[in-house]
Parts: sequence; C-alpha cells; structure tokens
Amino acid sequence: MNSDGEARRHVTLTLLLVFSFAFVGCPGGSKQGPGANSANTAPAPSPASSATVASSPFDSERALTLVRKQVEFGPRPGGSAQLEQTRNFIIGELKSYGLKVSTDEFHPRTPLGAKKLVNITAELPPSVPPSFIDTPSHNVIIISSHYDTKLFKKFRFVGANDAGSSTAVLMELARVMATAKTDRRFTYWFVFFDGEESFCEEWEQCHNANPADPKTPLPDNTYGSRRYVEQLENRNELSRVRAMILLDMIGYKDLNFGRDDLSSTWLLDIVWQTARELGYGSIFEDRIEGVGGDDHEPFLRAGIDALDIIQLSNYRSPSGEEYWHTAGDTLDKISGKSLKIVGDVMLASLPKIEARLESKR
Ligand SMILES: [Zn+2]
Repeated sequence: MNSDGEARRHVTLTLLLVFSFAFVGCPGGSKQGPGANSANTAPAPSPASSATVASSPFDSERALTLVRKQVEFGPRPGGSAQLEQTRNFIIGELKSYGLKVSTDEFHPRTPLGAKKLVNITAELPPSVPPSFIDTPSHNVIIISSHYDTKLFKKFRFVGANDAGSSTAVLMELARVMATAKTDRRFTYWFVFFDGEESFCEEWEQCHNANPADPKTPLPDNTYGSRRYVEQLENRNELSRVRAMILLDMIGYKDLNFGRDDLSSTWLLDIVWQTARELGYGSIFEDRIEGVGGDDHEPFLRAGIDALDIIQLSNYRSPSGEEYWHTAGDTLDKISGKSLKIVGDVMLASLPKIEARLESKR
C-alpha cells in the first residue's frame, strides 16, 4: 500500500466529506465504560493533518478493549456460564448507550441436549423528526454478529476474532450511532445472535430431530439466527426488515475481505464501493469468498436482502498457520485499526444503503 503524503491527504479529505455528511452535530458522544479516555477527544483534524482515521467517532481503542473484555471471560460456547457473563456485559454496555435492549431466551435441542440460548437486540429509533420522515419508521435495518464462541474440548478456544471482533465492533457502532447524532431515517436493530457455532466439531457433522417435519432434520448451527427469523415470522414482522448486515471475523491485523457469494449484490456493491472511496480498496477485494453458511442465510431464505462481511479463508499467519477455529485465535491477532476500518466503512455505507432502500419503495 502506498503511504505517500498525497494519497493520505486524499483519504483525509474523502473521510471528512463522508463523515460531515453522515454526522450532524458534534461527534463526541459519551465516553464512559471501557476504553474511556477523555484526553482523546481531539478536534476534528484539518485536511493537513495525517490523522486520517480520527475523523469518525468510532473509537479503535475502545473497540479493542471490548474484544479484550470478552476474551477475559474465557471460552464462551452457547449455554455456558462464561457466555452468560459476556451477555450481561454486552447488555450493560448497550443500556449505558441509552438503547432499549430486549432478550429472547430459547431452549433448542442440540446434539449435546437442550441448551439455554439467548439472542440480544438493541433498538435505535430514527433520528429524523417524525414530520420529515417519509419512510415509515417501522422499517428496520439489522446490523448483527454472533457472540458465542465455538466449543472445543481438546484445546482452549477464546475466539478473539471469532466472534470477539464483530461483537466489539457491533457494540461500538451501537454506541456511536446512539450518541453521535447520525442522520438516520430507519430504525436500527443491533442483534447479537447466540448459537451460531455448531456443537459438534464440524459445521454439518450433526443434525437435530425436527418433530414438525421428521424428513427434514434441523442443522446443528445458526440456532440464534434461525430462531430470530422464526420469531419475526410469528410476529408478522418479516416485512419490516429491509436489510440485514452481518459482521463475522473482522479484526485480524492483516485485514482482507472477498465478496461472500451468497450475499445480496447491491449491498456488497455499496459497501465495497464505500471502502474504495475511503482508501481501503486493497482490503475489500473484488475476489469471491466462499463462506458456506452463516447467520445471514436464514434471512436470505426468508426473502430479506443480506450481507456478510467475513474474513474466513485467509485468517492465517504469513507462513500458513491457521487461526480460524484453532487455539491461535487470540487477542494478539487483533488490531484496533482493523476494527475501526470496518466500523468506518459501515458508518459511511449506511446513509447510502438507506437512500437505496428509499429509492426502491
Ligand atoms: Zn466460528
């Protein structure tokens, strides 16, 4: 990547333009909780400054602290006491940002017996005054991540990237959007899915009985997202959800994404184009990334446009040591800079996603 002054200056100007559009008013927000550092509230950089990433309120240090906090709880598989502690931490944070938080506890059958799983949703209403809203405020954009970690008995798996990184970025996005006066015409649901990971070692190794349709056994993965879509159907709310964005494994120091082959093309196009405009074209590559299943699938099956941003196939060391689902998925692989790149790309993409959804009505 080139780092000459001109390129940097261009990125700075682009960021300033993008964020001056996206953020109305002062982007300070509350700085309480982990990573709080009031000394960091520097004024917005002038175009001559080299502090390019300082121009959005997404706090890289704070996000990294949120990853560390999760890792400190230890392995966090669905149904574990450690995940319960993590959940209480997440809920406490979300409430401290002023968000309305709800939980949905359910007890699915798994290959290891019934497990207590809990999805978490934090709701953020539109910020545009009602008289100016021409999009009914019941229209929802979901931004999501799973927060459980994969169960491994043979080694200690703390899931710094999978799913510590995306859980942290989702929390920091929620904080920024709730406190930084973003101009939003949609309701946002920040959704933390439980039970994304399979309880058996491999993703499709096991299945669960399906009493409603014995010939079609249920998968041993994506418990939380399948439950979420089911609940939306039951409440007759599927049509409220206009787009679903999933973050998964987004904190690696050597950040690099391909386009997930299942995701909705228009969502991929907007996010990848935005990344290029912010100077991250070498990170958001145009190659295809085969993911083979994730929490966006149940939404796609239900007819909801969805996007998965995931670094799956190349989460490994330069010498080829695999970090995905290994003991190597630890905090030292994660950088605050990477977390912020994804956060900034998301924040700059959302106004365009909203505009596109409004134009499609
Ligand atoms: Zn995983």
